[in-house]
Amino acid sequence: MLIVMKFGGTSVGSAERIAQAAQLAVDSAAKGHQVVVVTSAMSKVTDLLIGAARKASAGEWDPAIRQELFDRHKAVADAVAGGDAGRHGAVLDMLRQRLDRFEKLCYGLSMVHELTPRLLDAISGMGEMLSAPLLSAAIAAKGRPSQPVDATEVVVTTDQFGGAEPMMDETQAKAGARLRPAISRGEIPVVTGFIGATLDGVMTTLGRGGSDYSASIVGAALDADEIWIWTDVDGVMTANPSEVPEARTLPEISYSEASELAYYGAKVLHYKTILPAFRKRIPVRILNSFNPGHPGTRVSVEGDPAALGVKAVTSIRGVNLVAISGTGMQGIPGIAAKTFDEVAAQQANVLMISQASSENNICFVISAADAPRVVTALRRALEMELMRGHIEQISAEQKVAIVAAVGDRMRGTPGIAATVFGALGKAGINVIAISQGSSERNISLVVTDQDAAAAVRAIHQAFALERT
Ligand code: ADP
Ligand code: ASP
Ligand code: MG
Repeated sequence: MLIVMKFGGTSVGSAERIAQAAQLAVDSAAKGHQVVVVTSAMSKVTDLLIGAARKASAGEWDPAIRQELFDRHKAVADAVAGGDAGRHGAVLDMLRQRLDRFEKLCYGLSMVHELTPRLLDAISGMGEMLSAPLLSAAIAAKGRPSQPVDATEVVVTTDQFGGAEPMMDETQAKAGARLRPAISRGEIPVVTGFIGATLDGVMTTLGRGGSDYSASIVGAALDADEIWIWTDVDGVMTANPSEVPEARTLPEISYSEASELAYYGAKVLHYKTILPAFRKRIPVRILNSFNPGHPGTRVSVEGDPAALGVKAVTSIRGVNLVAISGTGMQGIPGIAAKTFDEVAAQQANVLMISQASSENNICFVISAADAPRVVTALRRALEMELMRGHIEQISAEQKVAIVAAVGDRMRGTPGIAATVFGALGKAGINVIAISQGSSERNISLVVTDQDAAAAVRAIHQAFALERT
């Protein structure tokens, strides 16, 4: 079986974690599987790189950051490859070479005082280029030949810096050429997650948390038999366990449930992860590198056909609710069309839409980063309607959250909405807006950011999701 396994930031966060990740890869290979590893940056490194790039572009480049990064990664190299002078030296050379580039880029930013999305990608993607040589050395130290591979040589993407999309045909060709020979020699390649490159070879990133997506892209490109996402919890759970301590693991979910949960805030999977795997019907497992004996979650076509109703509750925090309102909107055609044309022109991603049947109000949720730009653009695009009084107000309510109840078999199960709203009423939580997709796989509602955790807990409890 060919398995693509991805290790997240905490799973490669220290020398011990990297040794454990290497052990998991080597153990699978010892069972006769072919293994390709995809790795994240060590935990917090991507944040540090982005912070450094921002500061540098404000004229405050601090060379101590380079040293800090070197020291943290060298300590791991010493621990995992210290016994082999040749291997240790090669890893340190690679770290130095990559950090030289990082330093030069930051120095350049501090001169020009400008940070383009392209340069930000070149810097923020460097964390994976530092961790991959370490994990690869750790695997080699355990007796399996391994080499680090920059995903710039494997994953071909569009040039949407900061959120690039894979070009699958090109990626399939490159991944095959770069990885298959090594796999068939019994090696374990360690590919950098999160990054790719355009056809011209310019480095891109897939968006924050994008290493899960990388694993699915590489898995699909290689026609892998399974994709394993190693993280720090026992799989996909009925809610975020750091918010709902009694949350439990969902042993089986469908591709559609997994993508719905990820889209509505279950950070355990990047929201784009499922699609490449689904297209090739490759099963995805979410496993805990801190508790590898636990079976985790399996994502497949059928999911768990026996499970009815709501399966999990998620939340997206810190988003903004944009509302367009006015009694004069009734019966005036085209306001919704104009609104969403403009939102699309601003390249803002709409997370949820709701319109009351009285037509007095259209509201939708977008990220806080997009909101000011979108509101300004809408006031311009709908100037005439505002002047005529058809629209009274275009406003953005800050600090709201979307809370979503998700499950394939919510469809046709009566009483779900009543239970959701009953639970929130009992908890004294005010619901600002509601939306239910026509797929009936999801009921989502907007509450204040402050109420989000309590809302998630109330819904979780109302459906007794802590029980199997
Ligand atoms: P990694 O670094 O391995 O990619 P992430 O931090 O990105 O890990 O994702 C794992 C985290 O996702 C968990 O520690 C947990 O706090 C959070 N999470 C949110 N919702 C869920 C959920 N429904 N099930 C499991 N984990 C969740
Ligand atoms: N290192 C990247 C990030 O922190 C990608 C990932 O970890 O998935 O966003
Ligand atoms: Mg993640």
